[in-house]
Amino acid sequence: MAVPERRTDIGPPHYEQFLPPVIKKNYGKWKYHERLSPGLMVHVAESGDKLYTIRVASPRLLATDTIREICEIADKYCDGYLRFTSRNNIEFLVSDESKVEPLQNELKERGYVMGGIGPMVSNLVHTQGWVHCHGAATDASGLVKAIMDELFEYFTTKELPNKVRIAIACCVNMCGAVHCSDIALVAVHTKVPTIQHERVKDMCEIPTTIASCPTAAISPDPAKKSVKIKEEKCMYCGNCFTVCPAIEIKDPDRDGVAVVVGGKVGSLRSNPKFSKMVIPFISNDPPRWPKAVAAVKLILETYAKHARKHERVGEWIERIGWERFFSLTGIEFTWQHIDDFTFARETFRTAATFKY
Ligand code: SF4
Ligand code: SF4
Repeated sequence: MAVPERRTDIGPPHYEQFLPPVIKKNYGKWKYHERLSPGLMVHVAESGDKLYTIRVASPRLLATDTIREICEIADKYCDGYLRFTSRNNIEFLVSDESKVEPLQNELKERGYVMGGIGPMVSNLVHTQGWVHCHGAATDASGLVKAIMDELFEYFTTKELPNKVRIAIACCVNMCGAVHCSDIALVAVHTKVPTIQHERVKDMCEIPTTIASCPTAAISPDPAKKSVKIKEEKCMYCGNCFTVCPAIEIKDPDRDGVAVVVGGKVGSLRSNPKFSKMVIPFISNDPPRWPKAVAAVKLILETYAKHARKHERVGEWIERIGWERFFSLTGIEFTWQHIDDFTFARETFRTAATFKY
């Protein structure tokens, strides 16, 4: 008797199982799509079938009760079909036009906010922050809440020259999409880690700890049965602290965020772009982070005022030049903006990938 095949690699299920029937039926045969309002768009197929998408904001970290409620709404109006975008917008997918308005009414009654489609700010993508990750140099979710409160109208009603994608990462590991967002904050540590020597031997593997440092700043300290850090080589990346809990890099007074701008994923009109740093450091000031929120709003509103229609933030800056960007925004140009690899070789503080 043949032995039944044993599945050893389960992996994620094929996405096709979860497609709404109208998408399966018209797969690859969509004619056009149109934005009907900031929170509603329609896709029209060659067959004449339509699929309505209603987008609402989500706080990203969701309570089980909220997920149950979202599923209940999707069961009632969308035959259970909904999706989360990569920036954590919730999209209800409706194939029956008569259900669009009742769904919008129910979402309004339950306090959901619709918007974010088209030339607007969509939901912010962010990383774990102090809620979860051991390495966080800022609180991503708290910061996102403070920013979204301030930019609320840009999600619901106020239009911009083009869409603006905002992201927040709570350390330079950057689990968020900071490198390819129009405006983004990336949290940074700014001090050389401290070492609790008496705990190193119990908690850390010394060769692994030494190997974790991309700039070779860590070496053995046989006298202490521990390791030592050459301060001038350290670029505060936090790799060592991740593999050796006896090394501490977090500091409530010296952690904060850098602001980067001009990234994008899409290749429409111009190639995808990486973000570039415009503010090297803003200290953490929870719970409302007024300085970081003001910086994001300043950049967004300067862009809204000066960019041409359809220009993304990076395209606008490329057209006017960085000098003009700094003079229009009033952001101070400092030595940290100079991308000089001679300088990087001297200090080893520029990239986590740098080895010598
Ligand atoms: Fe953790 Fe860094 Fe990712 Fe934030 S960005 S979740 S601190 S690894
Ligand atoms: Fe640790 Fe990174 Fe500094 Fe090396 S460069 S000592 S891994 S924080």
